[in-house]
Amino acid sequence: METKALIRIEDLHRHFSIGDQTVRALDGVSTSIGMGEFVAMMGPSGSGKSTLLYLLGGLDRPTAGTIWVDGEALSALNENALAVFRQRDVGFVFQSFHLIPTMTALQNVMLPMVFAQVPPSRRRGRARDLLALVGLAERLEHRPTELSGGQQQRVAIARALANNPRLILADEPTGNLDSRTGDEIMQLLARLNRDEGRTIVIVSHDPSVTNYTTRALHLRDGKLVA
Ligand code: ADP
Ligand code: MG
Repeated sequence: METKALIRIEDLHRHFSIGDQTVRALDGVSTSIGMGEFVAMMGPSGSGKSTLLYLLGGLDRPTAGTIWVDGEALSALNENALAVFRQRDVGFVFQSFHLIPTMTALQNVMLPMVFAQVPPSRRRGRARDLLALVGLAERLEHRPTELSGGQQQRVAIARALANNPRLILADEPTGNLDSRTGDEIMQLLARLNRDEGRTIVIVSHDPSVTNYTTRALHLRDGKLVA
């Protein structure tokens, strides 16, 4: 059975000019990602993985080519509409967690709801539920420095889910973790995909992440390879 495409990418290019040199970070990528897939974006350092993830999440714009999300071309969105897309439709998870150090776990998870104007009365309960979902029900009032790396990444995953996005984008989420903790984070992402039907794209150069994903794409020099 063919799943409905959530993302379609057609002949995507992202070139960077530095002096008189042009780096083709993405050099003609076309593919699609179905609703409910858990896709690994693999490739060596510098192959264009992060560049592609940022374009998918509306953090950057392509030099040429088109990305459709649920039938809507991101290129047709102005800056405001793209900001709304990032806020409502995408949850980001980064290698270095990017938590606000002065805020508790609960406050970090509530923050995207503040920006999305979720009524204050609903924020705390939802953040609590999400932290319980990632196994941190007992750590609500802890600040990032009072948590292990794996726990910080769990907070970041709960934060990514705050506004119930259609798409989770994770850039090397296990890159700063030891292999056992990294496996636990991969198990958590796999559970969110399997039990909640979250569509997830994870960038990694670690082949073991493909033990958890449903499909792998391989980038090399800005191109998809078989
Ligand atoms: P990966 O995530 O696979 O390691 P990236 O997508 O970060 O690779 O980078 C792909 C290529 O594009 C690299 O050669 C990198 O140096 C270049 N690049 C990425 N971002 C920029 C930028 N903002 N300015 C100039 N070059 C960039
Ligand atoms: Mg990268």
